[in-house]
Amino acid sequence: MKRPLIPCPTSIEYLGGERSLPADAISYVKDETIPNEGYRLTVTDAEATLTFSTDAGRFYGVQTLRQLRDENSVVPFVKIEDAPKFGWRGFMIDSSRHIQTVDEIKTFIEAASRYKCNVFHWHLCDDPGWRLEIDRYPLLCELGAWRDGWGFGSDNMERYGGYFTKAQIRDIIDFCAARHIMVVPEFDIPGHSSAAVHSYPYLCCSGEGGDVKTSAAVFDGVLCAGKESTFDFCNGVLEEIIDLFPGKYIHIGGDEVPKDNWNNCPHCQKRLKEEGLKDGEALQGYFTRRIAAFIKAHGKTPIGWNEVLEAGLAPDDIVATKWHDREGRCDEFANRGGKIIMEETSHVYLDYDYHRTPLGQTYTYRPQPDSLTEEGKKNVLGVEAPIWTEWVETFDRMCYMCFPRLLAVAEIGWTDPAQRDYAEFKARAEAQRNVLADIGVKMAPYEDWDPEK
Ligand SMILES: [Zn+2]
Repeated sequence: MKRPLIPCPTSIEYLGGERSLPADAISYVKDETIPNEGYRLTVTDAEATLTFSTDAGRFYGVQTLRQLRDENSVVPFVKIEDAPKFGWRGFMIDSSRHIQTVDEIKTFIEAASRYKCNVFHWHLCDDPGWRLEIDRYPLLCELGAWRDGWGFGSDNMERYGGYFTKAQIRDIIDFCAARHIMVVPEFDIPGHSSAAVHSYPYLCCSGEGGDVKTSAAVFDGVLCAGKESTFDFCNGVLEEIIDLFPGKYIHIGGDEVPKDNWNNCPHCQKRLKEEGLKDGEALQGYFTRRIAAFIKAHGKTPIGWNEVLEAGLAPDDIVATKWHDREGRCDEFANRGGKIIMEETSHVYLDYDYHRTPLGQTYTYRPQPDSLTEEGKKNVLGVEAPIWTEWVETFDRMCYMCFPRLLAVAEIGWTDPAQRDYAEFKARAEAQRNVLADIGVKMAPYEDWDPEK
């Protein structure tokens, strides 16, 4: 009997027959010839062996076994050879627009880990709230984590907010590590910084601060790129982030940065002149290079949204996340050696409703489009799907939006496109409903997945 495996393995052969297989009846064998994150699983009458070269590979083999096992612990006789297509299979949670509890975040991570996702990109600060405890700058949480009213169209005018303590974050990092998930924190600068500017008004050009925002827009709460005190602040926050998060990557945002304040700021204009920069775009390039250099000097790799490429950064400077890249800068960047992560609005923005992005559309996503050269394709680290939370107030809503579409993203990240079949995927996805419910995730009803346009 075939089992509804997600993601679909590289090769699976059903040998006919099945047996009861308790967890302690499996032999675990290390074999250096198995690819990183890959595994081989053999179940016959005589044998039940999971072979791997890394702990991650062993973990993924166990997840597959879990999906093979029915409610009576019966497993079909199979031979599976499996390894992921991409090393980056991510999801992003926005905890700024609406915040989640630690338990909700863990529930989501548990669900994603069952489908072999391995990156949790955590959007921890933005205009509507700062969510990350920083000892050196306590006002970020005392002031920047709170806003007047729930916002985003709600008529609830109660103070809204909250933040994650370092102890809570360490707890979540450990929870992820046990599931072979790397946490990538995002410190979104120099734009989307209204909450930081509200806490420390000297960070903006005028020095006048402003509110923690309650609506969805691009605001001019931008850090001043002229004052040295801005860089002292960013480096101070980064030092604590670097201490807290053990992963290799730090996301520094860089998206949607209005340049009006910079154009009218004597500090920024002085910087332009001194550095020989021609305009605001070039000034953002200067800002990004300086922050990226600080991160690299600490042995980490910076990532930015695709706007950071507008100032012509070099492949060594940064990794780019492609979300909406009208000018094709990410393709060009990858073709000349830059690493990119594919996260486009057209297919994998999970906050867009199912009418705008049906499951079938998400499933057709190709992280290596023909616009890339062969070299460029090799520079695609993988795929990631964000859930922005302007309109996602509750955890149930978040789950509705992400499941089953995150299952499609998980399969895109793991399985070769030639093996993907949508009709068959849909049946496998529906079969996850009870598994997810047991974890605490309510998947969207089947009839909502592909609404008629
Ligand atoms: Zn300025």
